[in-house]
Amino acid sequence: MRIFDPHIHMTSRTTDDYARMAAAGVRAIVEPAFWLGQPRTNPGSFADYFDSLIGWEPYRAAKFGIRHHATIALNPKEAGDPRCLPVLDLLPRYLDKDGVVAVGEIGYDSMIPEEDEAFAAQLAMAVEHGLPALVHTPHRDKARGTQRSLDVVKESGIAPGHVAIDHLNEVTVDLVRDSGCWMGFSIYPDTKMSPPRMVEILKTHGLERILINSAADWGVSDPLLTKETAEAMLAAGYTEDDVDRVLWRNPVEFYSQSGRLDLSDLDDAGARGAEPTFEGSSILRGGG
Ligand SMILES: [Zn+2]
Repeated sequence: MRIFDPHIHMTSRTTDDYARMAAAGVRAIVEPAFWLGQPRTNPGSFADYFDSLIGWEPYRAAKFGIRHHATIALNPKEAGDPRCLPVLDLLPRYLDKDGVVAVGEIGYDSMIPEEDEAFAAQLAMAVEHGLPALVHTPHRDKARGTQRSLDVVKESGIAPGHVAIDHLNEVTVDLVRDSGCWMGFSIYPDTKMSPPRMVEILKTHGLERILINSAADWGVSDPLLTKETAEAMLAAGYTEDDVDRVLWRNPVEFYSQSGRLDLSDLDDAGARGAEPTFEGSSILRGGG
């Protein structure tokens, strides 16, 4: 089984997680730029984070034979903070980078007017750079947030097939399916969406335009819930090919639209089984 996790925040995970993911069949991941819990106070703080997402983290992943790509954006949680807004001027430089396969996460958190502006501006950047967009939906008032996100996406003129609307559930999936956008689901240990519920959604909606991720971050989360969902699919009668479609070929199809998804030589990549070492790394130098 090969797994592509299309949304996972490895910055907050340990090397033990990378080792467990590699052993479970995770071969490729996309790490979206998001907030770090602690509010950032200036654009330079974002620049260092973005450099880490396209430099250090892919290097760390490669040590475990996992291919790492990133999405770059001003995230919804900080889009309302005037100290952070100047980061919008930094984004075009990063959206030209090879390892960047989408604009994201963008969208709504509290659905305040400031978030509208950052969301629309970044969808315009996605169009300009020919990149897909990864859209986070708010955890509160999800149905209204999802509908409003779809309205903004439509107004932006971006092709619906270039947009993934993420963190969906049983209530919001219909809206997104009818829009032509991709449907993203984050599987969590306790809340929001579980492997059995995900399988029920697949039974109703089919496998097309579906993306399944663990979204694992610094909160209660589990980077192996993609694998657990795959096992729940098999137990429910889905074939290995069905699992491969949802957990590998679908994310490949979505992010390939960037023209930058590089999954070549994956068998040779990294040093699975070997002891990874980070001493003497040159990856921390340079950047930008
Ligand atoms: Zn996220």
